[in-house]
Amino acid sequence: MSRSKLNARINRIEPSMTIGISAKAKDLCAAGLDVLSFSAGEPDFDTPDNIKIAAIKATVDGFTKYTAAGGINELRDAVVEKEKRRNGLDYKRENICISVGAKHALFNIAAVMLEEGDEIIIPAPYWVTYEAIAKYVGAKPVIIETKEENGFIPTHEDWEKAITPNTKMILINNPSNPTGATYEKSDLEFIAKLAEKHDLWIISDEIYEDIVFDGYNPVSIATLSDYAYERTLVVNGISKTYSMTGWRIGYTCGDSEVVAAMIKLQSQSTSNPTSIAQMAALEALRGPQDSVEKMRTKFEERRNFIVNALNSIDGITCFNPKGAFYVFPNISAFFGREYEGKKITGSMKFAELLLEHALIAVVPGIAFGDDRFMRFSFATSLENLKEGVERLKKFVEKIK
Ligand SMILES: *Cc1c(COP(=O)(O)O)cnc(C)c1O
Repeated sequence: MSRSKLNARINRIEPSMTIGISAKAKDLCAAGLDVLSFSAGEPDFDTPDNIKIAAIKATVDGFTKYTAAGGINELRDAVVEKEKRRNGLDYKRENICISVGAKHALFNIAAVMLEEGDEIIIPAPYWVTYEAIAKYVGAKPVIIETKEENGFIPTHEDWEKAITPNTKMILINNPSNPTGATYEKSDLEFIAKLAEKHDLWIISDEIYEDIVFDGYNPVSIATLSDYAYERTLVVNGISKTYSMTGWRIGYTCGDSEVVAAMIKLQSQSTSNPTSIAQMAALEALRGPQDSVEKMRTKFEERRNFIVNALNSIDGITCFNPKGAFYVFPNISAFFGREYEGKKITGSMKFAELLLEHALIAVVPGIAFGDDRFMRFSFATSLENLKEGVERLKKFVEKIK
């Protein structure tokens, strides 16, 4: 009897579609075509110089060996300080685990907390990874559909209906990727009370907390009650705020037993996050913060442009996001129609035709659990955005 090569677990998940589309756009670029990519899930800015210099210094100084599996104490303490400063949260070093990016942090939380059959509630449209991680560890993602006209935030009734005796966790991502949806404090207070009533854990992915517009200032759900503080795992990192996606440093703040379990898992799997990157992260959190506001201002300027520009195209409506660096326009008015004789069956077909005929790369909404939309990243120059809108306009004008 032959054994199958791969286990059943790995077949439960798909490769990250966002990464796949970026790769296809890069291939077309390499073939000499003038492709404009709006599929990026990362800031386009260079990592600030003070941070790069800290990494160079760490390298030259020989800080190039294994560190503690959960990260160096200085960095864990810097996260404690940062959470106090930014969110008013009181943690100790034992509440902090440093991981290889926030994605790794999320994976490890799921790996140490979720059992086969446990349910985790995830509002859609969602970041693909949440669903994949839940499935990989054998949990059941319970998806809540949201509406554009509700700002892509679930209603109180939606939350209540999603809870079953198997629910263990609620996931919130504020501001959200892919919609840029943001929660009001009252929404979060409701979720905190609901979690308490049903004895649930909360994962709060706050990676976009510093990329916010129109004066929106997110509060962390962990600040809203004693229960929420004890049962929320705050996940964050340096990738988005400091334009450091390649450095791979993220962190979790919360229950010390969960954190200890995550560190135990890291000690037997990845070991420590890269020593040099940890020193760079330390500089990011403790060094001058002026680059953060500079990048935020740029993002807001681009958001202002792109939302207006997309809403001025016939057939497209675009929600105005108060955070992150994506817009999530509704393109469903084109479904069932044709581009040069080719039928537009959904967001995937729309994205394919757009890449092929207009040379612009976007991520189809289906990748985030809602086929009526596409994700258009504005982590690119205003000049590229202007050109992209022109190409998109010409493309949709040819849809019959
Ligand atoms: C980019 C992103 C992350 C994590 O990024 P890392 O680079 O792994 O720290 C987490 N959540 C969301 C919603 C993201 O978009």
